[in-house]
Amino acid sequence: MFYPLYSKEAGKAGVSFIEIQNPFNNLMFYLRITMFIGHFAVGLAAKSVKPTVSLGTYFLAVQFVDLLWPTLLLVGLERVSISPGITEMTPLDFEHYPITHSLIMTVVWAGLALLLFYLFKKDLKAALVVAACVASHWLLDFITHRPDLPLAFSDATRVGLGLWNNKILTIAVESLLFVIGLGLYLRSTRSSDKIGTYGFLGLIAFLVVIHISNIFGPPPPNVAAIAWAGHLQWIFVIWAYWVDAHRNVTWT
Ligand SMILES: [Zn+2]
Repeated sequence: MFYPLYSKEAGKAGVSFIEIQNPFNNLMFYLRITMFIGHFAVGLAAKSVKPTVSLGTYFLAVQFVDLLWPTLLLVGLERVSISPGITEMTPLDFEHYPITHSLIMTVVWAGLALLLFYLFKKDLKAALVVAACVASHWLLDFITHRPDLPLAFSDATRVGLGLWNNKILTIAVESLLFVIGLGLYLRSTRSSDKIGTYGFLGLIAFLVVIHISNIFGPPPPNVAAIAWAGHLQWIFVIWAYWVDAHRNVTWT
């Protein structure tokens, strides 16, 4: 199948068509390659701070910039390339992504989340927790990424502690965070029906399968595959809204 993608090589027209041989493989690849399960761990844990907010909202918040990122890749505002071996954990070279991943824009996105959530729900504590979730994305990326996170719009200063250079340590840290997050979520909610039990189990199982498959796998065929498949992360947000509505909070 051929998909349009903005690229420099396409020249003034701005759009070229790139072939994606096996969309399903690419989808699985993308989900495991850029999905840091630690973000979801934060989303799960947030439930124990303010349980009245849906897990779907928390997943949307912690992953907000990674949900926006594939769209910006498609329109050519941000750039990534594939460079096998650049870190042990991912072959992605995040060349330019100030709108989604600069520190200054993180503050803007978190502020926007705070404002919007407060306007709609009139609950300041909930709005603060949601905004903190948005901001947590940069902090976790700062720990895991190589120094590719810009502080502002210029790429002059880029930071990152590079946990991804050590696969074993990354998996250990991610797993630990996820178990803690899951424990906190389970302590704060109780399923009210089968969807709340099995639907939730399915969501967790899917996240864990992707996490485990992080250990294996070849690099992606091209950037277009990443950009298109990246949008499928919305599945987790929708799934979380669905199952969370079938679980009662144990305290408020
Ligand atoms: Zn990110």
